[in-house]
Amino acid sequence: MYRDYASYIKEKFGMRVQKIALNPGFNCPNRDGKIGIGGCTYCNNQTFSPFYGKASTPIPLQLEQGIAFFSKKYKCQKYIAYFQSYTNTYADIETLENIYYQALENPNVIGLTVATRPDCIDENVLKLLQKISEKYYTVLELGVESCYDKTLKMINRGHTFLQAENAIKKAAGYGLEICAHLIMYLPGETEEMMLKTADIMSALPVKILKLHQLQIIKGTKMEQQFKENPELFSLPTADEYADFVVKYIKRSRQDMIFERFISESPMDMVVAPKWNGIKNYQFTQKIIEKFCS
Ligand code: SF4
Repeated sequence: MYRDYASYIKEKFGMRVQKIALNPGFNCPNRDGKIGIGGCTYCNNQTFSPFYGKASTPIPLQLEQGIAFFSKKYKCQKYIAYFQSYTNTYADIETLENIYYQALENPNVIGLTVATRPDCIDENVLKLLQKISEKYYTVLELGVESCYDKTLKMINRGHTFLQAENAIKKAAGYGLEICAHLIMYLPGETEEMMLKTADIMSALPVKILKLHQLQIIKGTKMEQQFKENPELFSLPTADEYADFVVKYIKRSRQDMIFERFISESPMDMVVAPKWNGIKNYQFTQKIIEKFCS
């Protein structure tokens, strides 16, 4: 059917491994003026900051709180420190090294996932991640979002697709495991344009894909655009999106690992599409049923 990330990790480590989202309190160059101001039009970081991931809380404590939360929920003993909020390579190299190793000092942490923008990795960051990867499981998660410059401009990403492509190739040269993050149903993209990104990602050294449907979140610039020009947006129902995802998987490289397909922002923050709080595992079940039908 398709390779899913949870099974891949289970095979690799012989057990369920839980990712713990962390917030090191870095900013984002697309917000502070270095690259842009105001950020990506869809971005509201509150949607991906868990209650324990407060920037003011030291990383070891965020981890402890995250582990305490998940160890009650699942019987897992090992964790991946997931630097998720904002741009997690946006600091000087000493600060990055210090922050990453603060997480790795926890004996239950077996590795790192570092999420960042494609234009925020340089040789020093890649060398640091390479060094970490010699001892720990390490994933570099790059926010590609779209393969089309017209879309990237419209959502104010502040980088081109060529920058993303080059970042993927460069990071792969350091032997890093690369996860690409893409948003589906961005304004102006047809189904064929979105499916074409499966070909593009498959031709690049991307090991893991994280897709999610566009969600219009309260308080974002996109919410304003959506209210003023709803005709620009073509948002699918959950069922239509599931049909699309099946086509996407079928068009992807056979060894591509899919980590997730949907975003689960808190319901009270979502303007559209309203999918009644469907969870990733429920959506995944839908995909499996569609594959089997
Ligand atoms: S989505 Fe990421 S890159 Fe864009 S503004 Fe938000 S934190 Fe910055």
